[in-house]
Amino acid sequence: MKLDALTIFPEYLQPLRAALLGRAIDRGLIEIGVHDLRDWTYDVHRAVDDAPYGGGPGMVMKPQVWGEALDAVCTDRSRLIVPTPAGRPFTQAMAREYAEEEHLVFACGRYEGIDQRVFDDAARRMPVDEVSIGDYVLVGGEAAVLVMVEAVVRLLPGVLGNPVSAEQDSFSDGLLEGPSFTRPEVWRDLAVPDVLRSGNHARIDRWRRDQALERTFHRRPELLDRLADELDAHDRAVL
Ligand code: SAM
Repeated sequence: MKLDALTIFPEYLQPLRAALLGRAIDRGLIEIGVHDLRDWTYDVHRAVDDAPYGGGPGMVMKPQVWGEALDAVCTDRSRLIVPTPAGRPFTQAMAREYAEEEHLVFACGRYEGIDQRVFDDAARRMPVDEVSIGDYVLVGGEAAVLVMVEAVVRLLPGVLGNPVSAEQDSFSDGLLEGPSFTRPEVWRDLAVPDVLRSGNHARIDRWRRDQALERTFHRRPELLDRLADELDAHDRAVL
């Protein structure tokens, strides 16, 4: 998979080459390009923003600069992802969908965002998704790109040491994952639940499922509504 990101702060995206992502690059599983948007400016100030039509505070990123940059980086196999608080909420299901793509291009906005015509124009040639990573406002799209890229790349075949861990993570079966424990058996007077040391895998699986149900019920009850049809009698008793 190829991933490209356009930003006015390329240094902000250095973590795209660290840890798990860095290893995926070294092993040839992904290719990452980070591009300085100002390379597509022609004035001495290398300006990327201008005052908003209709007035109001802040500045808007210029369509000419973004248009040329996207023309240079995108191909007819690209999918453009635009981080914005006004976008569709990013989910694990979207991460799975993006993990099937050949080429993802991320457009990092700053200031009040990017002139809308940039995306309307790009949508004439490729799929364009405006995506939010949560109901809060960041200063720029770079942190959102780090979040999305990590969520996508860990799903690619060969990236995680043990692919089963991605299958068992929160959201995979629609529930939050329950608590995890490791050695020692007792730490600061707190003991690991007996069932996890029982060696009885059927009981352990049932206990994990119950913990996931309870945790989801308390922290994210709206997730259970979507699962309503899949809950059996035991699940309902837990809730
Ligand atoms: N005026 C915009 C609004 O109210 O929707 C906010 C612009 S924000 C200050 C600047 C940039 O940060 C956005 O263009 C986007 O790239 C990024 N950003 C901010 N919050 C985000 C979020 N929750 N999810 C994804 N990107 C976000």
